[in-house]
Amino acid sequence: MMRRTAAVLAGKATGMLSRLSRRGGGTTLPGDVARAIDPDVLRKLARDLKFGSVVITGTNGKTTTARLISWLLEGAGHRVVSNRAGANLIFGATAAALESAGADGRLRADWGVFEIDEASLPKAVDEIQPKAVIVLNLFRDQLDRYGELESIAKRIESALERLPAGSRALLNADDPRVAEIGLDLPAPPLWLGIEDTSVAERDLPHAADARTCPRCGASLIFDAVYVGHDGVYRCPNKDFTRPAADITATNIQLDGFDNIAMTVGMRRAYSADRATETQAVKPDQRLELPLGGLYNCYNALAAYAAGVTIGLEPQYIAERLKNFRAAFGRQERMEFRGRHLNLVLSKNPAGFNETLRTAVDLAKGNSFLIALNDRKADGTDVSWIWDVDFERLKGKATVLVPAGSRAHDLAVRFKYAGIDAAPPEPDPGRALDALVKATPEGETAHLLTTYTAMLDLRAELVRRGWAKPYWET
Ligand SMILES: [Zn+2]
Repeated sequence: MMRRTAAVLAGKATGMLSRLSRRGGGTTLPGDVARAIDPDVLRKLARDLKFGSVVITGTNGKTTTARLISWLLEGAGHRVVSNRAGANLIFGATAAALESAGADGRLRADWGVFEIDEASLPKAVDEIQPKAVIVLNLFRDQLDRYGELESIAKRIESALERLPAGSRALLNADDPRVAEIGLDLPAPPLWLGIEDTSVAERDLPHAADARTCPRCGASLIFDAVYVGHDGVYRCPNKDFTRPAADITATNIQLDGFDNIAMTVGMRRAYSADRATETQAVKPDQRLELPLGGLYNCYNALAAYAAGVTIGLEPQYIAERLKNFRAAFGRQERMEFRGRHLNLVLSKNPAGFNETLRTAVDLAKGNSFLIALNDRKADGTDVSWIWDVDFERLKGKATVLVPAGSRAHDLAVRFKYAGIDAAPPEPDPGRALDALVKATPEGETAHLLTTYTAMLDLRAELVRRGWAKPYWET
């Protein structure tokens, strides 16, 4: 007990110092310090949670999904602990728990909602003992930051095999790599999936990673492609196919970056304690929320499924989602000298392809700033931009500013794609100026950027008084 208190206090002090020195949000340092003093500190703090935790993992969508679930819980009067964007290693989860702990080393909160990177999931499950784990997708992230997708899938599988009794895995049936994880779990997962071919694409994008059957290695046949390699797939040898979804999204309507609407159906549901398992326990529910892009349908579907699994009412969820606010830096809008800026995080090939598709096809965008950095959080090898279908911009982009520390690499990529672009502009301030100068007043410009490039652009906008520092939002 004393050790835990010491760990919590040291961690909290570190957090305070770090904020005073303006190193800003997303830090994991308090977690590092506390865990050095008491390696079991997160396990102990997690036990203090009144109702338990939800853990979210996957390559893309973790932050938005975590934010959606926190939003649902907070609206129902719960006190929620959650880690911040970018701090999704086990140290970040520890830091978040520390921040909410009292001086006695106790955590006073109802729920924990933690986004955890794929590689840390076994540790997180072991320490947090979550009530539900969501696996959203497995895409190749900035050139295999964590090694091959197969070995990541194995790690996630081993974590889910050790889920405590009464916990539930919520898996995306549309992702072949995620489906593979769920095939042999001791407790059946709850499968989520989109079932609306009107929003499907016919072909896999260049960047699709999971093209082969995990059973026999044959090329999978895709009857529909929704996001990246997520879709309706089957092996020609009939030994692997998309699992039937328990919770489905149908009748999807997409309105640029502004709105999505979809009908969620529940074919099978489990209570959190698995005591009851009934068929079609909930009527279909129409969801509408102010997020853009098909990829966010998966996040909303996952949040809905998690909400119902931990006992929230479908009607309440639908009401609450209508007023959702996107997480910092995922998608953000601001006015800048009479132009509408739409900042959207795009951090890997699968993510970029979806934000491009949303900006070009759904939002009818024609003014773009694309920013690429090569710091550690972005991936130092930027050759992955050759897997992004920038060709989509051809004939559509009338303004295109290559920005970020690797603006010159982007310029080469655009040239290769046959798209006219402005000169590369690595300086964030000058890149914004170039964008605004070329974008007519009253028009919208889309800024698709990697993680630290987003931070740089945002810092520039803060400096000019156009946005608040993110630890104040
Ligand atoms: Zn096969």
